[in-house]
Amino acid sequence: MSRFMAERYAHLEAYTPGEQPTDMKYIKLNTNESPFPPSPGVLRAISQERVRELRLYSDPDCNLLRRAIAKQFGFEKQNVFVSNGSDDILNFSFMAFCDGTKCGVAFPEISYGFYQVYADLYGVDAKKIALAEDFSIRISDYCYNDRTVVIANPNAPTGIALTREEVEQIVAANPDHVVLIDEAYVDFGGESALELVKKYDNLLVVRTFSKSYSLAGARLGFAIGHPALIADLEKIKYSTNPYNINRLTLLAGTAAIEENDYYMENCRRIIENRAYLTDSLRALGFEVLPSCANFIFAKSDQIGGEELYLALKARGILVRHFTKEKIKNYNRITIGTMEEMQILTNTVRAILAEKSER
Ligand SMILES: *Cc1c(COP(=O)(O)O)cnc(C)c1O
Repeated sequence: MSRFMAERYAHLEAYTPGEQPTDMKYIKLNTNESPFPPSPGVLRAISQERVRELRLYSDPDCNLLRRAIAKQFGFEKQNVFVSNGSDDILNFSFMAFCDGTKCGVAFPEISYGFYQVYADLYGVDAKKIALAEDFSIRISDYCYNDRTVVIANPNAPTGIALTREEVEQIVAANPDHVVLIDEAYVDFGGESALELVKKYDNLLVVRTFSKSYSLAGARLGFAIGHPALIADLEKIKYSTNPYNINRLTLLAGTAAIEENDYYMENCRRIIENRAYLTDSLRALGFEVLPSCANFIFAKSDQIGGEELYLALKARGILVRHFTKEKIKNYNRITIGTMEEMQILTNTVRAILAEKSER
């Protein structure tokens, strides 16, 4: 840290992203990307001519993309906010809706690591609520806290989902606070809260193109909520970086939404591969949490979480290991192609066999 860094950030602990190594080619099962390429329309949309237009600024209103998203999900453009990845939307939401002097925020103790980072960044008082013994979220813990509520549904890294009815109970029990539901993984088997947006003005549903839409590298997320919430987010965006989605990403996102069926078919394949991997790891003695996401969270009583992570990495397979005490025996494994799931299973089997021979 330089001597110029603002005092209030001196003790800030930044988010640690999953590894994106460039040294060799891994089977990459560590950051929940899609194993499938973007749809044909996306590839066509990024033409040479469009690249030449990069000399011009992008549309700060994101009109075509917001209209396409609104149409796909049955809303108006005024209900839709788009930004440079859903992390950006979470960032803006902490700025806008978690004012430390007004209320503070509540989120699960085991969840997406960025929630804590944003709370620290803005000096927001954060109440971290323990999960139940089985890693599920107890909804009564999120009712009547007098705080903004942030929940990933399905949750990460557990993959466990709340039903729409459970989300509605939380939203209804917090009428004077924003309830932000982060639906990064909802397309892989969760129940979306989107239809509740029409009934509740305090619900903000946040989605991303990074997982189910195969566009992690394009950086694009969207939120759907009451027009007043969307206007608040727009105000923050226009106060920081109005052109924060580049021209190519706007084109890619619009084309992707127009080929929604392609992506939902890919999600169906991921769900199939998830069932295969869950069964094969359980057959090897693993405990695997019931996942509604494009990853599973699993532990073995024959090998520690970190040991398995390192053994897999040495054999060219990356998974995500977290060092937090309560989950350090687990690994989060992204669901890839069937071939990748077979290679992973065989490699785990070999690692366990080698270990028992020693
Ligand atoms: C991946 C992820 C995000 C971030 O997505 P981006 O749109 O790539 O920024 C947000 N929330 C959760 C829970 C995620 O897992």
